[in-house]
Amino acid sequence: MASSYIRKFLFTTLGLSSSVLLNLNTSGLAHAINTLPSLSTTTNSSTSTPRLQPKNNNLKWVYSVAERVIRANGLDEHPWRFQITDEYNFSAYAGELNKIVIYKGLLDQIHGDDATLAFIISHELAHHTQRHLAQQQETEASLKEKLLKQAQSEYNNWIAQERRKSKTPIYPATKDVMKQQIILQKKQEFDRTIQALSRQHEFQADEIGYTYMIKAGYDPNGGLRVFNLLSRLPSDYTENSSHPPTQQRIYALNQVMKKYSWLPLWIDGNERLKNNPQPLKLDLSEDRVSLRINSRFISR
Ligand SMILES: [Zn+2]
Repeated sequence: MASSYIRKFLFTTLGLSSSVLLNLNTSGLAHAINTLPSLSTTTNSSTSTPRLQPKNNNLKWVYSVAERVIRANGLDEHPWRFQITDEYNFSAYAGELNKIVIYKGLLDQIHGDDATLAFIISHELAHHTQRHLAQQQETEASLKEKLLKQAQSEYNNWIAQERRKSKTPIYPATKDVMKQQIILQKKQEFDRTIQALSRQHEFQADEIGYTYMIKAGYDPNGGLRVFNLLSRLPSDYTENSSHPPTQQRIYALNQVMKKYSWLPLWIDGNERLKNNPQPLKLDLSEDRVSLRINSRFISR
C-alpha cells in the first residue's frame, strides 16, 4: 500500500491522475511521425495544416512548443522524450530519465493554447533538471533505512524496559501490538516527510517552469490558466496528497510572477534562440513509444 501511494506521487506531477497505466499505440505513433511532412523544420504551431488528423496535430503541437522551450533554455545538450497517451486524463508527468508523458485529455482541454502547454512542458522539464524524481527515490531509500533502524531500536528498548519491570514473560500478542504501533508511527513519519518533499518539488517546478516558458517567449499567464482549469475539476487534494492544493499553487505562482521581471528572462531566451536558430530534430525514440527531440549536437 505504501509503495503504490509513493508511486502515485512520484509519477503524477500535475495532479488528478488516478493511473499511470498507459495506452500506447506504437504503430500509430510511427505512422504519425512519418506523415508529418515538415516536422523537423517547424517552429510554430501556427504553421500546422488543417488537414492533419487530431492525433497528428497533438504530436506536432507538443513538438513545436517543447522544442522551443528546450532550445530557449539551453536544455538541448541531450535528447528528450515526449509521449502522448491515448487515455483521456487531465495530467502530465515526468517519467523515467528525461521523459515527459502528457495525457490527451489534458491536451484536449487546453487545445490551441501554446502558453498553457508551454507551462505544462516547462514544469515537467524542471522536475527533470532539478532531479526531483531521483531525489525522491534517494530520500525514500535512506529514510526507509533510517526509520527501520529506529523502529527496531525502539522495539528492543521497549522489550528491555518491560523485562526490567517484571520477570513475567511478555505475551506474544502484546509484542505484536507494540510492533504494529511502532511501524504505524514510522510509516506516518515516512509519508509526512515524502509528502512535504513532493509538495516542495511541485512549487519549485512551478517556479522554474515559469522562467522556462517566459524565456521561450510565451504568455506569462499560461500557468495560471492551467491551474484555473485544474481547480474546476473534482479535487483529490486531501491531507495526504502529494500535491499542494490548487489554490495554494495559484497564490504561489502569482508570487513568482511578481518576483521575476519578465523582460530580462525573455531577452535571455530570445538571445539563445537567435544564436541557435535551427529547430531541434525529431525522431521516434528507441523505446518505440515516445517522440525523441534530439540534442543540438546531432550530426545527421
Ligand atoms: Zn509536478
